[in-house]
Amino acid sequence: MIPAAFEYYRPTDMAGVIALLQEHGDDARVIAGGHSLIPMMKLRMAEVPHLIDLQAIQGLNGIAITGGTIKIGAMVTQHEIINSAEMEKAAPIMKEAALQIADPQVRYMGTVGGNVANGDPGNDMPGLMQCLNAQFHLVGPDGDRVVDARDFYEAAYMTEREDEEVLTAVSFAVPVGGFAYEKQKRKIGDYATAAAAAQISKEGGKVAAASIAMTNLSDTPVWSKGAGAALVGTACDEAAVKAAVTAMLVDIDPTEDNRGPVAFKRHAAGIVLGRAIARAWSRA
Ligand code: FAD
Repeated sequence: MIPAAFEYYRPTDMAGVIALLQEHGDDARVIAGGHSLIPMMKLRMAEVPHLIDLQAIQGLNGIAITGGTIKIGAMVTQHEIINSAEMEKAAPIMKEAALQIADPQVRYMGTVGGNVANGDPGNDMPGLMQCLNAQFHLVGPDGDRVVDARDFYEAAYMTEREDEEVLTAVSFAVPVGGFAYEKQKRKIGDYATAAAAAQISKEGGKVAAASIAMTNLSDTPVWSKGAGAALVGTACDEAAVKAAVTAMLVDIDPTEDNRGPVAFKRHAAGIVLGRAIARAWSRA
């Protein structure tokens, strides 16, 4: 299908972007890689009379790893994440997860900022960002602010970001311990039926800290505090993993769709989480 007619803008600074967002309100959207927004426009699920391209804006690119913090510009693509040697060294879970997003064509264009700002519960980066306790950096008419990934998502396609704000970067502490991103999907290139991100650190043979987040199992990503807590202090044995899965199942709320009925999704969620914990623990 062909999208409805729209005005296209390509400002060269952030002030220009914000001015356009203020002028057109709900009728305007920024576009980054376009690999979520353009399909929605073509399907007429999104009508965007004013489309503001971020490609010419300085300062939204690049990966900076300094003082134990990783900061990723909003316009960094999944392809860049996969091919960054520094990122692979500092946070290999980013590459592991990015490789499970769509296909190379989508990953060449799709950006980290677009993936997390979109609010699509099927996107893989939001859950991963919650697992890593990331911060999202926003700029708008009232200046800059930072929102925790764990507080950002309100409902499907609804986030803490105000209409006139732009997400400029995501940042998180260099992860410690072991990690894993496990995704069950119908075929290569598909969104998750269920996915789990796990980060576990070990001390004296026991779990010292654990963070667990689930993807596409509610209308937002789900950071399961209870699942992480169930692992802490254990040797990550079968009983502990079972307790973590039980806690996670309390937190998710999947709905039936063409990826399966609720019971199947809950089953798949338990499987992917069990696998993610086992792999994260083996690397911790
Ligand atoms: P865009 O499409 O440009 O924008 C998406 C939304 O975010 C828009 O509403 C836009 O206004 C807003 N936005 C973008 N950037 C900003 C910003 N900096 N600040 C504020 N708002 C912003 N994703 C997955 O995670 N997993 C998958 O398995 C997966 N499979 C896919 C399969 C196909 C066939 C396709 C086409 C896409 C798939 N995607 C998947 C989505 C892909 O990763 C998208 O590219 C990504 O989610 C959005 O990034 P983008 O840069 O393309 O954003």
